[in-house]
Amino acid sequence: MRIETLALLLIAGAGAACAVDPSAAGTTTFDSTLPLVWVDPARCLPSCTHTDEPDLRTVDSSARLADDGAFQLRADAQPALAALIAAVDAGGPSFAVTIGSAHRTYEQQSSLWDQLVDTEPGRAARPGHSEHEAGLAVDLDFGPDAADWLTANAWRYGFVLSYPQYKEKTTGFRFEPWHYSFVGVAVAADLHNRPGLTLEEWFRAMPGRGVSGDCSDCTLPSSHEDCAGLALSPSGICRGTVVDWCFDGTATAVDCAASSLACVPDAATASASCGDP
Ligand SMILES: [Zn+2]
Repeated sequence: MRIETLALLLIAGAGAACAVDPSAAGTTTFDSTLPLVWVDPARCLPSCTHTDEPDLRTVDSSARLADDGAFQLRADAQPALAALIAAVDAGGPSFAVTIGSAHRTYEQQSSLWDQLVDTEPGRAARPGHSEHEAGLAVDLDFGPDAADWLTANAWRYGFVLSYPQYKEKTTGFRFEPWHYSFVGVAVAADLHNRPGLTLEEWFRAMPGRGVSGDCSDCTLPSSHEDCAGLALSPSGICRGTVVDWCFDGTATAVDCAASSLACVPDAATASASCGDP
């Protein structure tokens, strides 16, 4: 793709109702295999420890099929991500996008949780609760000009930004501009047409569209921490820049400072959430 074409796409992407440019998404519709996996701090994968792994493909850092690749993705997400990365990369070095992290095992997610739970609350999901474990999410490394393009166009390839800024209390996670999850074009387009709505809120509005486990088959205690006895409520409290609250029965914490925000107490509602300092 020529830079001029990309510039036109950027302009087109600024409009909410613009048509899909065939040079961006081609003629392929990137659909997801339903039902969708719905995970959050309280909801686990249907198989918490992945005794039933999804259909995975091994890929290189551009999501191209490669037997010696360093990453794995769910099969229906792979062609969509490869097309997305190829489209962005065509813009030149400042648009370059590569995969930083993709599918993780239960054990890998556990290690990440143990590593980050105290130092960066709200960064890692509890083991059994990560979109990465479903093989659907990727953390992308990208050049300075790619962020806005991804925000405007990732939906065309079936990807959504799972954890937006100012939605920390809703999603249970800090703002992660690099974390995209594959949901298929139909759902991604629906979310694109409802600005401000997160995937988590979309599932809550239509719970029948997602599948979750009840965490009873998780083998590690860190996969769930009951709020009972912790004096935590859904309203939350501030602990410095960290908001602590009970997310549907699971103890949850997010460091608002990681989202360039503060933990803001609201005396009127006796609650706390991430907000402008
Ligand atoms: Zn991620």
